[in-house]
Amino acid sequence: MSAAVAATELLRRIFGYPSFRGQQAEIVDQLVSGGDALVLMPTGGGKSLCYQIPALLRTGVGVVVSPLIALMQDQVDALRQVGVKAAFLNSSLDFRALVETEHRLLRGELDLIYVAPERLLSDRFIGLLEQLVARQQVALFAIDEAHCVSQWGHDFRPEYMQLSQLHERFPDVPRVALTATADQLTRQEIRTRLGLEQAKVFVDSFDRPNIRYTIVERDSPRQQLLSFLGAHQGEAGIVYCLSRRKVDETAAWLNEQGVTALPYHAGLAGSDRQRHQQRFLREDGLVMVATIAFGMGIDKPDVRFVAHLDLPKSLEAYYQETGRAGRDGEPSEAWMTYGLNDVVIHRQMIEESASPSEQKRVERQKLESMLAYCESARCRRVILLDYFGEPATSCGNCDVCLVPPIVWDGTVAAQKALSAALRTGQRFGAGHLIDILRGKNTEKVQQFGHQRLPTFGVGADIDERGWRSVFRQLLAAGLLDADASAYGALKLTNSARPILKGESRLQLRRQVEPPKTRVTRSKA
Ligand code: ADP
Repeated sequence: MSAAVAATELLRRIFGYPSFRGQQAEIVDQLVSGGDALVLMPTGGGKSLCYQIPALLRTGVGVVVSPLIALMQDQVDALRQVGVKAAFLNSSLDFRALVETEHRLLRGELDLIYVAPERLLSDRFIGLLEQLVARQQVALFAIDEAHCVSQWGHDFRPEYMQLSQLHERFPDVPRVALTATADQLTRQEIRTRLGLEQAKVFVDSFDRPNIRYTIVERDSPRQQLLSFLGAHQGEAGIVYCLSRRKVDETAAWLNEQGVTALPYHAGLAGSDRQRHQQRFLREDGLVMVATIAFGMGIDKPDVRFVAHLDLPKSLEAYYQETGRAGRDGEPSEAWMTYGLNDVVIHRQMIEESASPSEQKRVERQKLESMLAYCESARCRRVILLDYFGEPATSCGNCDVCLVPPIVWDGTVAAQKALSAALRTGQRFGAGHLIDILRGKNTEKVQQFGHQRLPTFGVGADIDERGWRSVFRQLLAAGLLDADASAYGALKLTNSARPILKGESRLQLRRQVEPPKTRVTRSKA
C-alpha cells in the first residue's frame, strides 16, 4: 500500500474523516518519507493530524513538544478514545505515573507522547530518547506552537531555544514545527533557531472569512463594550485587557450589569484559573475577561466574539487572539476599542523594557504595523493577510468595507497640531494640546501662558474627538512620537518636517459610526 493510501485509510478508520484538508496530505507525506517540515496553519486548520498520522505510520513513537500542559490531557484523552496509544509527561503527573509512562515508552507501547519542553530537555528524558533512537523507535518530533521560539514574539518560552538539541543529537529523526502565527521575521527565526533551514515550508491560507473585524474609537469603553455584548447575548466570548487589574475590574463590572463574566490572568491561583477555563469550555454563553495569559490552544469551537479593550502589541498577537473566535466556521466578531492612550502606553512599555536596542527596534516596527492597521482606510482583512504575505481582495465584511471611512485632506489640521506641539516645547500630551487648539482657557493653559500662543484657538473648527483622531493618526503615521520619559509628551519626528513646511500633504481618515447591526447567521 502506498504511503498516501495508507494515510487516507488511517484518517478514515481512526479519525473518521473522509479526506484530508488543505495541505494536510502533502505534510503527512513529507514526514512519512522522513523529511522535515515547517507548517503555518491558522488555528482550527487541522495541525494535529499532520503529525499524528505520520507518527502512526512510521515505526516508533511520535514525540510531541507542547507548552500547553493544560491541553495535553485533553488531547491524550481524545486520542485514546479513538484507540491511539497516547500519553503525556508533565509536571502534573505524580512520580509513580511518571515512571509508569516512561516504562511504557521504553517498551514501545506508545504511538504518541506529549512532553512539556522543560521535561523533554531534562537529562533523564534525553537519556530515554537516546535509547529509543538507537533502536530506531522514534517516529518523529513535532514541535507545536513553534512561534514560542521567537524572542520577539508574544509567547516567548526560553526552553524552546534549547530544542535545537533535538536536531543536533538526533539528526535522522524527522521533525515538524507547527504554528498558527508567524510573520516573515518569526518564520525565519523558527527556521534558524530550530535548525529547520532545509525543511519544506507549508503555508496554509490565513484567511478567516467568517470573522468580522471592527475597530471603534474609544470614548466610553465600558458602555461601548456593553452595547457590543448586547448583540451577543447568551454567546461565549473573550474580552482581552492589558492589565490584571483591568481584567478583575471589568469582569466584576460586567457581572453587575448582568453579564456572566469570569476573570482569567496569571495573578489568579492556579486552581481558579483551571476552574474558570473549564467553565468557559463547558458552559454556554460565558464571557471570559482575560489577559493574554488566556487562550493559547483553547479548543472551543463556538467562541462567537473576541473583544479587545486594549491594543495588542502586534498584528501577530491580534491575529492569534482574534483567531480564537469562530473556529467552527460560523459568523463571529473581532471587535476592538482603540484610543490615543494605547499608543502612548505601548511606546512607553517598549522604551522602559530591559530589552536590547535591536529588540526594541523590532517591537516598535511591530507596533507601527498594528497602528497602521487601526488607522487605515483599507479593508482590514487585506491588511492582515498582506502582513502574512498573502494576497487578498476587499472582504466586504469588515467595518471599513461595510462603512468606508471618509478620507479628507488633513494637511492643515496636521500642521496646526504639529505646531502646537512644537510651540509648547514638545513637553505636553494630546489633551493639553487639544485644549490649546480649541482655545480652551483651562488652568493649565493659564499656568503656562499658552493662551498667548499663535496656535491658541486656531483649531476650534474641529471638535475634541476629531482632534484626538488627528493626533492618533499622526502618531500612527510616525510624525509624532510619545516621549516615554515624560508621560505621553508628544514630540515631532523628522518625518513631520515636510508636512509642517507644506512640502507634502497628508490624507486622514474620519471614522464613521458603524451600524449597530447584528452579525447575520448563516443557517446550515
Ligand atoms: P489546529 O491545531 O490547527 O488549531 P486541530 O488539529 O485542533 O487544529 O483541528 C481542528 C479541528 O478540525 C479538529 O476538530 C479536527 O478534528 C478537525 N479536522 C482536522 N483535520 C480534518 C479533516 N481532514 N477533516 C475533517 N476535520 C478535520
